[in-house]
Amino acid sequence: MAINSLNQKKQEELEEKDNSLLEFQETLKEAVEVLNYPTQVFEFLKKPMRFLEVSIPVKMDNGQVEIFTGYRAQHNDATGPTKGGIRFHPDVTPEEVKALAGWMSLKCGVTGLPYGGAKGGIICDPRKMSFDELERLSRGYVRAVSQIVGPTKDIPAPDMYTNSQIMAWMLDEYDHIREFDSPGFITGKPIALGGSKGRETATSKGVLYTLQMVCEKRKMSLIDTRIIIQGFGNVGSYLAQYLYELGAKVIGISDVLGGLYDENGLDIPYLMENRDSFGIVSNRYENAISNQELLEKECDILIPAAISGVINKHNAKRVNCKIVIEAANGPTTKEAIQTLDERSILLVPDILANAGGVVVSYFEWCQNNQGYYWTEEEVDARLKDKMAASFTNVYNTAKKYGVNMKIAAYIEGIQKVAEASRLRGWLKY
Ligand code: GLU
Repeated sequence: MAINSLNQKKQEELEEKDNSLLEFQETLKEAVEVLNYPTQVFEFLKKPMRFLEVSIPVKMDNGQVEIFTGYRAQHNDATGPTKGGIRFHPDVTPEEVKALAGWMSLKCGVTGLPYGGAKGGIICDPRKMSFDELERLSRGYVRAVSQIVGPTKDIPAPDMYTNSQIMAWMLDEYDHIREFDSPGFITGKPIALGGSKGRETATSKGVLYTLQMVCEKRKMSLIDTRIIIQGFGNVGSYLAQYLYELGAKVIGISDVLGGLYDENGLDIPYLMENRDSFGIVSNRYENAISNQELLEKECDILIPAAISGVINKHNAKRVNCKIVIEAANGPTTKEAIQTLDERSILLVPDILANAGGVVVSYFEWCQNNQGYYWTEEEVDARLKDKMAASFTNVYNTAKKYGVNMKIAAYIEGIQKVAEASRLRGWLKY
């Protein structure tokens, strides 16, 4: 591919990404209108109630000090403390963090968790940082936001390029500041520090349970189903493994560098074994294709599990599947969803499909508050129940209002947040 067209593709991807907040707001508006709620509801929910930007000085290994920019957005705390991950990524923007916080509010509403939504982010490239630099950055972030977070205020968790080790450093820093043990300050911790069994794999299990519900509705057998998963990080890789174990054919996967495709099915255990700590494995193969090519390959179920905006106006007409399940946050633009609707491709939205992570985060927080820890079987069974009930609610709401599942999920989420806000006297309708 010529450099020019590569640059154009990159530009197109960035354009879609920068639109997250607009995407969130436009879909929110549509759902508020379907509900026949006054515009005040939209005006209130379209942006976070609180947004903090911080500068984090970090001593680098070379002795220099680098100043990193971080954010924390708290969308709405009417239903309870706010909740949501922290991402470390070079492309983090304030708009994206605000949109992600809004999606978290709706996600907690869809799954009936007693939380509002939040999200944090730091502009950095963790792939270029040492372990020690990452620790200093994580601790610096907690010092910078400590005033507005806490186990009954706002509870962070992992997100893109953050993991249980980063949560452990953040917890330790918070404990030092507060001078008492507060495991409920953060979720996604290592088990030894009060983490929950099953949290690491929760998002992928949630997507899997959702996929099983869809197959049931569509009378599809998992064994015959051909699946492509874009993204081989925490979510994509475990999901690929579970599907492989259940006998589904995972015919495509991808990481940030490229995609692998084999219509006879990929050897997922081998790829799991050979990926690096950032989930990268495609660089080992000469026949790797691009992420864009992978998204357009024929399959039954396409699962974008990486970044936002990857299915957009440029490729929605060429996506070649029956069902899209959004495992990433915001991977399909509003315009693209319309095209998929027109093409009768079912889209199962992110705020439903990828809610498994925050559901088990909630279980982790409950266990921390109780000081009593559950078995992995208990966690899994409760996760499955929550995912199944949430799926059924959204499916029925879509039927009731004659809307797609995206709008239906927004409706479910908005109803919860708006009602709690109304009862507190923050909204009148
Ligand atoms: N970052 C995950 C999400 O986007 C999990 C958030 C949490 O566990 O609080 O849903």
